[in-house]
Amino acid sequence: MTPEFLTLNKLKELLKNEGIKPNKILGQHFLIDKNVRDKIIGFAELTSTDTVIEIGPGFGELTESITEKAGRVYGFEKDRHIAGILKKRFAEKENVRIIIQDFLDVEASFFKDFEGNLKIIGNLPYYVASPILFKLLKLRNYWESALVSLPEEVSKRIIAAPGEKDFGLMAVLFSLYTDTKVCYKIGKKVFYPVPDVKSVFLCIKPLKKPSVPIPDEETFWKIIPSIFLYRRKTIQNVLAHVLKIKKQDIKIILEKSGIKPSLRSHQLNLEQLIKLSDVILTKI
Ligand code: SAM
Repeated sequence: MTPEFLTLNKLKELLKNEGIKPNKILGQHFLIDKNVRDKIIGFAELTSTDTVIEIGPGFGELTESITEKAGRVYGFEKDRHIAGILKKRFAEKENVRIIIQDFLDVEASFFKDFEGNLKIIGNLPYYVASPILFKLLKLRNYWESALVSLPEEVSKRIIAAPGEKDFGLMAVLFSLYTDTKVCYKIGKKVFYPVPDVKSVFLCIKPLKKPSVPIPDEETFWKIIPSIFLYRRKTIQNVLAHVLKIKKQDIKIILEKSGIKPSLRSHQLNLEQLIKLSDVILTKI
């Protein structure tokens, strides 16, 4: 197969010839707009010294553009049949390696080898978008930027500010450990098959240290996730439920943290959440 862009007609022809039906369970929605592809790749600001990990390369529309700009590309594709076609497509390109593997199974040691000189790009399979994001966050010390697509609704939970209804654990994580913004909004029709949801591309840059200092990160991460499980309850009731301590003690904890008992978890800012976990640590 020659490395040309797969427009809708060419993609349909390829699918027919190969007997492939796009697998919705694997989140297969292929990019069919070359201008949109070029615009997306522009946000990655690739140079010849970059190594790129591509998540879910599919038939290689992003991959092709990445190979032209970056030094090296590792594409992790779970679908065996598609990966086989992709391998043939890039057989002549020495700087491309297609690996047939679930991205979620890639070992941390693979990332560590690159010592930070690494960019992540992916038009993600949405059924595993959240676990992929959590994995990337865990490994944030080993890559310098990520450019990934997400359903618009999911992206709102990542970029939400305190006080907004979507502010929750994802937003806390991303605002503490990364600088993240929506780079590009895309319509549904740039994909085949057309997905049910609108998409955005996020540009993510890990921070060298948390945006707000956390004195005891271990306690913070033991306490804060459970607080966001009960979004409708007031923080006073959430703590009663989670900590199982006397009401009087909860009152003192909230007073010392400078938090009104009637607030809901999504109304607390990062400083308040950190203070809260700190006060709880000294109290129990
Ligand atoms: N990058 C291609 C494009 O933009 O046209 C394909 C994007 S499509 C939304 C997602 C791709 O991820 C599919 O090729 C699918 O087979 C692959 N995929 C699904 N689950 C995966 C996983 N867990 N690990 C790696 N690839 C996966």
